[in-house]
Amino acid sequence: MSQYDFDLFVIGGGSGGVRAGRIAGGYGAKVAVAEEYRYGGTCVIRGCVPKKLLVYGSHYAHDFEDAAGFGWTLGEPKFDWATMIASKDKEIGRLEKIYRSLFENAGARTFDGRATLKDAHTVLIGNKAVTADKILIASGGHPVRPAIPGADLMITSNEAFHLKEQPKRIVIVGGGYIALEFAGIFNGFGSAVTVLYRGEQILRGFDEDIRSHLAAELVKTGIDLRVKTDLTRIEKKGNALVVHLTDGSSMEVDAVMAATGRKPNTDGLGLEAIGVKTDADGAVVVNEYSRSSVENIYAVGDVTNRINLTPVAIREGHCFADTVFGNKPRSPDHADVPAAVFSQPPVGTVGLSETDARKTYGEVDVYRTSFRPLKATVSGRDERAMMKLVVDAKTDRVIGAHMVGADAGEILQGIAIAIKAGATKADFDATVGIHPTAAEEFVTMREKVKP
Ligand code: NDP
Repeated sequence: MSQYDFDLFVIGGGSGGVRAGRIAGGYGAKVAVAEEYRYGGTCVIRGCVPKKLLVYGSHYAHDFEDAAGFGWTLGEPKFDWATMIASKDKEIGRLEKIYRSLFENAGARTFDGRATLKDAHTVLIGNKAVTADKILIASGGHPVRPAIPGADLMITSNEAFHLKEQPKRIVIVGGGYIALEFAGIFNGFGSAVTVLYRGEQILRGFDEDIRSHLAAELVKTGIDLRVKTDLTRIEKKGNALVVHLTDGSSMEVDAVMAATGRKPNTDGLGLEAIGVKTDADGAVVVNEYSRSSVENIYAVGDVTNRINLTPVAIREGHCFADTVFGNKPRSPDHADVPAAVFSQPPVGTVGLSETDARKTYGEVDVYRTSFRPLKATVSGRDERAMMKLVVDAKTDRVIGAHMVGADAGEILQGIAIAIKAGATKADFDATVGIHPTAAEEFVTMREKVKP
């Protein structure tokens, strides 16, 4: 009989915590979880899933326009924000129940409340103290606002999902995933969207060709994209907000959204007092098995600020449970993690950008194609897709694949398998395309881009 109430106490019922708790339970561990908000975490409750539903909803605007070229006559389309939000909330409610039951079906005890650490083996939920042999911190992260006067007037992605009314004019600050995804969402729903990005080009860290191609495509969809521009302060003017910009101009809008990054949720957890090391951003510092500086305390997901993507958190949680409770030591592999930005058009990417590949491998071959998708020829939409392969010249191995265009996320998932398996450019060339698709371009690019 263990000296503790539980073998594992998980702080946070998001993707990483749920997977870890469920798998540990499957190995026979006595598991508890505390969640202060809603089961499912950022991804299910106020991230990936509701975002994707809004992307689907807003994309109809483009589909209605495209339909005309194919012979359809439609009435004037009307969009109702309240219906969209209610439909989204209904689905999120359903998923939340599933997440909670995943835990409960695995025999875990659920605590609805905020958990803090009293000592290395004691968790407090309100006044209730419970003890556990191992503790997993999977408390996620939260959006941050820039430090400017009037920052409290900004919404973040958290609020954007629950606005009572659709803002007719919105400024979105940032040039990363969240900024570009919400720019497409609000633009599709008919809001006037301005994106302010402080740097030279959006999507820092992505392949340069992807960055410039996407920027051009976003502008074509009607988004007012302003790079090298930031905001200096925001003030209220009646029901509207006035945004002052670094170029000295100002604009009046209905909402200003900060999409300027996220920070790990470690404040007030009691980590410092028990010696759990955090970095300058507040992330729990962990080793390859997700173990913190305190032997029995582990952390997975956004709270560790490694790669802040749901499937990565799930993998980290699974590896943790296999290692600690399954007697199968396994560390998550953070190499060649594919990702998509669900902008409109979307981006899909896996492996190295051309710039990073040159730094790491020296000599690389680059294959690139840009084309008007078949559908756009008849719809008349002014749109171009772009694909790119980066190949290690010495070994012929494909080390990066990137795309801007419809279904980029769906397409890159398959390409990521090939890259993970170490496929060479010759393997790509030997693969027969599926015609007519955009994806087939990935196996038909033959001409190297001249250096
Ligand atoms: P990102 O780090 O992707 O982007 C933040 C953006 O805000 C950058 O363009 C950054 O500029 C800018 N920025 C940061 N601080 C300031 C500031 N003080 N003033 C002005 N601009 C600023 O963060 P997001 O918030 O978009 O998303 C957080 C993370 O969540 C992502 O990195 C990703 O890991 C994950 N995510 C994944 C999604 C997906 O998989 N589809 C969707 C949404 C989020 P600069 O480049 O100059 O630093």
